[in-house]
Amino acid sequence: MDFYTLNKEEEIRVLRTISQPVKNIDGQLIEFADAMVEAMLGKGIGLAAPQVGRNERFFVVRLSEEEDPLYFFNPQIIGTSEKLSSYEEGCLSIPETWAKIKRPAVVQVQAFNRRGRPFTIEAEGLLATVIQHEYDHLQGKLFIDYLPERKREKLTSHFGHDLYPDLTREGK
Ligand SMILES: [Zn+2]
Repeated sequence: MDFYTLNKEEEIRVLRTISQPVKNIDGQLIEFADAMVEAMLGKGIGLAAPQVGRNERFFVVRLSEEEDPLYFFNPQIIGTSEKLSSYEEGCLSIPETWAKIKRPAVVQVQAFNRRGRPFTIEAEGLLATVIQHEYDHLQGKLFIDYLPERKREKLTSHFGHDLYPDLTREGK
């Protein structure tokens, strides 16, 4: 399972596309999500479907190997705190790039789990940040979008591609 990155123009398009809801949480999809958990082992703590080439609304999170992975199918953020917290973020799709990003410190999320059952959680700390980071992926959004323009321009020249294509104009 390869990670889509900003190094390739056609992969940027996938990463920048708004993903579609999952229709069925069936065996095939669960197998794929399990493979995503495997793929990020030792490399990252969250992975969203567009990062492995599927524009569908789901992501997996595993803060450490001691913890069970969490599965979020068709997630919806239903509440965020006014209080913010900041973490140094990185992304498997944005090689060798890290930045401190401010996000709501607490987030409430509704989603379907690995068994296809609905659940709601309130997350705080690192988990809240990871959930928001992964949710952004489903919206075609990346953590570098929160950076000031000067830094974004630097990244664009570093990767050598337009990292901010406006796909909405093409009716996607
Ligand atoms: Zn990411």
